[in-house]
Amino acid sequence: MTAFRTLDDADLAGKRVLVRVDLNVPMEDGKVSDTTRIDRILPTIREIADKGGKVVLLAHFGRPKGRDDKNSLRQVVPALTQALGRPVTFVEDCIGDDVAKALTAAKNGDVLLLENTRFHAGDEKNDPDFVKALATNGDLYVNDAFSAAHRAHASTEGLAHDLPAYAGRTMQAELEALSAGLDNPARPVMAIVGGAKVSTKLELLGNLVKKVDVLVIGGGMANTFLAARGVDVGKSLCEHDLVVTAREIEEKAKAAGCEIVLPVDALVAREFKAHPGHRVVTVGEVAADEMILDAGPLSAADVVLRLDKVKTLVWNGPFGAFELPPFDTATVAVAKAAAKRVKAGQLVAVAGGGDTVAAMNHAGVADDLSYVSTAGGAFLEWMEGKALPGVEALRKA
Ligand code: AMP
Repeated sequence: MTAFRTLDDADLAGKRVLVRVDLNVPMEDGKVSDTTRIDRILPTIREIADKGGKVVLLAHFGRPKGRDDKNSLRQVVPALTQALGRPVTFVEDCIGDDVAKALTAAKNGDVLLLENTRFHAGDEKNDPDFVKALATNGDLYVNDAFSAAHRAHASTEGLAHDLPAYAGRTMQAELEALSAGLDNPARPVMAIVGGAKVSTKLELLGNLVKKVDVLVIGGGMANTFLAARGVDVGKSLCEHDLVVTAREIEEKAKAAGCEIVLPVDALVAREFKAHPGHRVVTVGEVAADEMILDAGPLSAADVVLRLDKVKTLVWNGPFGAFELPPFDTATVAVAKAAAKRVKAGQLVAVAGGGDTVAAMNHAGVADDLSYVSTAGGAFLEWMEGKALPGVEALRKA
């Protein structure tokens, strides 16, 4: 990768390295309930420590309005220590004398975790004084938190201007995967956009029609597009006020040479629950009291066939209400087909954002796609074609 400064460009030995990581992990009964985010930052921490740097971890946790125990990063220390297999020293603040003293006491290769950066309002405000206070305790800055890179905060962006700045290994992997997905993809490129509503993904659809060859629309949002084509979708989730917008997106796609693919059949039911009793219908046959809750078998088979003809897939959002069986069927079928082609070296598939990680886990393919991004908002902003401030700050001059 040439566009961003990485750890390959950094001289780490004997340096105090401020490393922005994502430790905003889910907790249950005071314990970390899912260590995915912790596992992803381990390579960067180990590499800096093994090369003789003092690792100083910076992270936010929750949405505190000032200092509070509920949002203290102290509670993450046991899980981090266990995953890392090395001791982690916790420091009660992220700026000031406590940090300076802990750093003086630390040896090269030691790992420190500083308290929640959002205990200071200056983090989210990207306050220059707060940036300086953070920078005082570091020689270098490494950003390994792609998931927070869409925010221009002191710890995600400001520091990159005050200290020599580098992408950590997880950030680097994410940037390489995303670049292969949309910036510089092997063509043809297919995007699948599903999920609940068009209204949350307008910018994303507008950007994708300019960049991809085929745009497959699934989930509740497909109903709005079907309604815009004059299909009666019964009681389905549908944003009737957005049918004009849906038509505009179709026109934009046509002008850009992007084919839009909508479901031709569907699984419909009268109740929004698991196993409610359903039937398979063509999309023109939805009864007034029925809801479309998944794409039907013909639609899923059509997408699978189309996958054979593309070299790149970018995916956000499920085809149906995948949490409620059998409305996971289309999502699982397409995910498995994509994973098979990735394994055969015939497809680059990048998925992410919101519920998509859960959907890929549910389909059992999260480890088989080329890259599954756990970054929600940042992944969506990237799909929308926006520059992410935390990423831009790492770009080589
Ligand atoms: P999003 O966060 O926008 O990706 O939306 C994901 C949610 O969309 C999931 O919780 C699905 O249950 C829901 N969803 C997908 N298809 C449908 C549908 N046809 N009707 C209602 N909800 C759906």
